[in-house]
Amino acid sequence: MARLIFITGASSGIGQALAERCHAEGWHLALVARRADDLRAWAQARGWSAERWRVYPADVADIDSIVAAGQACLAQQGVPDVVVANAGISVGMDTAERSDLAVMARTLAVNNVGMAATFQPFVAAMRQRGSGTLVGIASVAAIRGLPGHGAYCASKAGVVAYCESLRGELRGSGVRVVTLLPGYVDTPLTRKNRYPMPFLLSADRFAQRALRAIEQGVSYRVIPWQMALVAKLLRVLPNAWFDRLLSGRPRKARADQGSATGS
Ligand code: NDP
Repeated sequence: MARLIFITGASSGIGQALAERCHAEGWHLALVARRADDLRAWAQARGWSAERWRVYPADVADIDSIVAAGQACLAQQGVPDVVVANAGISVGMDTAERSDLAVMARTLAVNNVGMAATFQPFVAAMRQRGSGTLVGIASVAAIRGLPGHGAYCASKAGVVAYCESLRGELRGSGVRVVTLLPGYVDTPLTRKNRYPMPFLLSADRFAQRALRAIEQGVSYRVIPWQMALVAKLLRVLPNAWFDRLLSGRPRKARADQGSATGS
């Protein structure tokens, strides 16, 4: 029987590339985004047979909305084999700016609460079946705090810790938790970055490697491997050296600087 994957943030970038790759490998798709019409038009333009995919409109920052999408998937397509909480935003912040507190609140609502609310409808059903994989998309930005990027770094460090807690809670149930930390991937979220992005991957190459990690059921993987080495080095770098290294680096654009991305 065909496997089913539920993906949030499927209207763009990594989520869309993962949907395309999974479709090519015979999976059935449950696709989630706010821009549901665009997502539907994109899938239709591919000529995919209608019984292979469904779109569920949802805002992951609205708990009722994303939980309802998960429940609709359970009712219409059954219990997924894999759920990928991929929807995320990335906007620069400056704590001295009052308006950026709202940016931080929104970032945590989408990237953290949105992830837990994405998984919530599926946990009991997967436990009961004794199988399933919950995938949290974190980031290499989880490893160290980058100046100007406090909201995002905090949210992604939170993703890593949250997924680790969940993994422990589900141990022995047959339900796996996979934490993926992308390095730089070429998507609308990174296209306006004002700094160099080493080891940049296309969204499709990232999706290919991510799907391999998901199928292997690894607990934690940095993609690409070169970034995994950088992450290991960054982790052991003394604070004073780290601060000096990052001191002149251009920062992620803030919301009112007009080039913030990721909605
Ligand atoms: P994009 O900006 O290309 O796509 C983001 C996706 O998230 C869109 O499909 C968007 O859909 C969805 N989304 C955003 N906010 C919401 C919301 N409130 N409710 C529902 N869906 C939402 O980003 P990427 O593909 O690059 O990023 C995907 C994930 O990968 C994110 O979690 C990001 O942090 C992470 N990541 C990306 C990296 C990169 O280099 N690109 C590096 C490290 C991590 P819509 O607007 O239609 O709702």
